[in-house]
Amino acid sequence: MAGSSQRTASTLEFLEGSRSGIRYDPDMLHGTDPADGRTLLARYDLSAARDRLTPEVIARRHGGVWRWEELLPVRLRSFITTLGEGATPLLPPARLASRLGLRGLFIKAESVNPTGSFKARGMAVAVSRAVELGATHLVAPSAGNAGGALAAYAAAAGVQATVVMPADAPIANQQEAAICGARVMLLDGLISDCGKLARMIAELTGAFDVATLREPYRVEGKKTLGFELAEDFDWNLPDAVVYPTGGGTGLIGMWKAFEELETLGFIGSARPRMYAVQAEGCAPIVRAFDEGAEFAEPWSHARTRAAGIRVPSALGDHLILDCLRRSGGGAVAVPETEIDSMQAFAARDGAGYLSLESSAALAALPALLERGLISADERVALFDTGAGFKSEAASMERPAVVPNDPEAWSHVIASLSPIS
Ligand SMILES: *Cc1c(COP(=O)(O)O)cnc(C)c1O
Repeated sequence: MAGSSQRTASTLEFLEGSRSGIRYDPDMLHGTDPADGRTLLARYDLSAARDRLTPEVIARRHGGVWRWEELLPVRLRSFITTLGEGATPLLPPARLASRLGLRGLFIKAESVNPTGSFKARGMAVAVSRAVELGATHLVAPSAGNAGGALAAYAAAAGVQATVVMPADAPIANQQEAAICGARVMLLDGLISDCGKLARMIAELTGAFDVATLREPYRVEGKKTLGFELAEDFDWNLPDAVVYPTGGGTGLIGMWKAFEELETLGFIGSARPRMYAVQAEGCAPIVRAFDEGAEFAEPWSHARTRAAGIRVPSALGDHLILDCLRRSGGGAVAVPETEIDSMQAFAARDGAGYLSLESSAALAALPALLERGLISADERVALFDTGAGFKSEAASMERPAVVPNDPEAWSHVIASLSPIS
C-alpha cells in the first residue's frame, strides 16, 4: 500500500519513571521501571508538536484516536492497528439529568468503541506499539473487557494473545476473547492473582505483558479520552469528571492529556475536579483518599458485580490519588444495590443499557450533590465505559412465551400487565 512504511508524526522522546524520574530509551520494549517497579510514562517533544498542531488542524483530521499521532508513540504508519476506536459522541442524557437534578450532565458514549468498551483505546495503541517494537505474543490479566480488546487487536495485528481472567469474569468477555483466537485461561482467583499468573507466563514464555500500567502505552491510548473531552467541550474543560475507577488508566491518562494540551496551548490551566467512583465492596482508592495516604493498601475480599472496578490493588495508585488531590476532586464508594438500581433507572430514563461500572459512576452523583461536591448548574462529564450487555446479567424473570396461535392473542393482549 502506498505510504505504508511512512513515518508518523510521533514526537515521542523518552520514557520516564513515574516516581523515579529516570529516563529510558523509548524505542525498546519496556515493562515497568527497573528502578522501582512503577509505571513508565511516555514523554514527547511538545514544542515540536506545538509547531504542527492547532485545534483547526485537529478538527480537519479523521481517524479517531490516531488523529493525535504527534502525541502517540507509534513511529511507522504500517504498525497502526485500528478497528475504528475513538471519536465517540458526548451525549446530554436529558431526562436522566433532570431526574438527578443536574442541568449540565454529559455522558461520553465509550461503549460505541470497537469491542464495546473504552479498553479499545488503550489496547489499540499498546498492541500497535508492542508489535512495532518486536512483540509476537502478548499476555494480560483482565476482569473482562481488557481481555476482549487485547484479543481483538492482537488478531488485527496478527500476533498471539493470552488472556488470564478470573473464573467468574462475564461470559461475554470470555467468548469474545476466545472467538478472536486468544488463549483464554480462567483462574480461580481475583484479578490481582491473574496478574501474577500473567507475569509468570511472560517470564517463562517471552510473551510481553500488557497488564494495566505495567507497560507505558495503554495509558497513551486512554489519554485520548482527555483530548476528545477537551475538544467536545470546545477547549473549555467541564467542571467535574466522574470516573468508575479500577486500575485508573483513564484518570491517569486524562490528567496527562490535560497537561499536554496546556503545553500545546489548546487549553488554559483550569482543570476539572476529578472524582473516582468505586463500589463499597472494593474501594481501595476511596479509603486511601479519605486517609490522606500516598498509596492504597490492597482491599481484602473484593466484591462487586461491576467486574471492571473489582480491582483490589492498582499499580498506579499513587498517580490516581495525586490526580484526584491536585484537581480538587475526590473519591466516592457506592453501595452495590445502588449500582444495580441505577442501571435500570438510567436505562428507563433513556440513557441506554449502560455497564454496571458506568452505573456505579451515575450512582455517585446523588451523593456528590448532597455533599456539595458538585452543584446542579455545573458541567459534569461521566463515562459510559462499556456496553451493558457485556456486564454480568442482572437476574430477571423470563417473560412468559406467547403461543403462536392468533386466536389466543386477544386474550393475551387483554391480560397484559401495565408497563411500570
Ligand atoms: C476497565 C473498566 C473500567 C475501569 O477503568 P480503569 O481505567 O482501569 O480504571 C470501567 N468500566 C469498564 C466497563 C471497564 O471495562
